[in-house]
Amino acid sequence: MDSNYSPLDQRHARWLNRFSRCLDLHAAQYRIALDGVESKNLALLLTARFDLAHPIVKPHRGRKPNTGRCEPSRGQLIAAYGEGRVTVSEEARGRRYPEHPVVRVGNPTLVGVVSHEIAHCLVNHADGLHTPGHGRVWVARYDEVARVAEIWTRRSSIEPSGDERGNPAMISLRADRVLS
Ligand SMILES: [Zn+2]
Repeated sequence: MDSNYSPLDQRHARWLNRFSRCLDLHAAQYRIALDGVESKNLALLLTARFDLAHPIVKPHRGRKPNTGRCEPSRGQLIAAYGEGRVTVSEEARGRRYPEHPVVRVGNPTLVGVVSHEIAHCLVNHADGLHTPGHGRVWVARYDEVARVAEIWTRRSSIEPSGDERGNPAMISLRADRVLS
């Protein structure tokens, strides 16, 4: 596909343009915003669908809506680096790594950011932490996750608050509605 990727995700455009099979879907998901409750709902629905450990989702008002972060669980770190190195690192930082992955997003955030971060959770679980962060494997996972997210967001009601300046529209993503 040769269409240009949404400027909202320019940092990853090189790999997405090369390997993604649903660029238009990713671009569309960067035009829909979620509040903190909805982003948690979507993340939990997606991780359940892919049989992943539920991440601890932390929406934060101070984070930009188009940025996110996925931190691996302690078990994933041990699988990748060995218990010895993980323990040494924990002693240096003064606390244990969490037992569940942690996903950090803005509040509001974008559907595309949740799909992006859950794709990292899926890569960390299925492919391991040594997989390149935004390479070909991750793009394939991102496509998979985005297609599932699309099914649920299609069933939700999108408020027409997006505007011509490129601000995203808000979505009302209620778990009871999307699962019915
Ligand atoms: Zn990323």
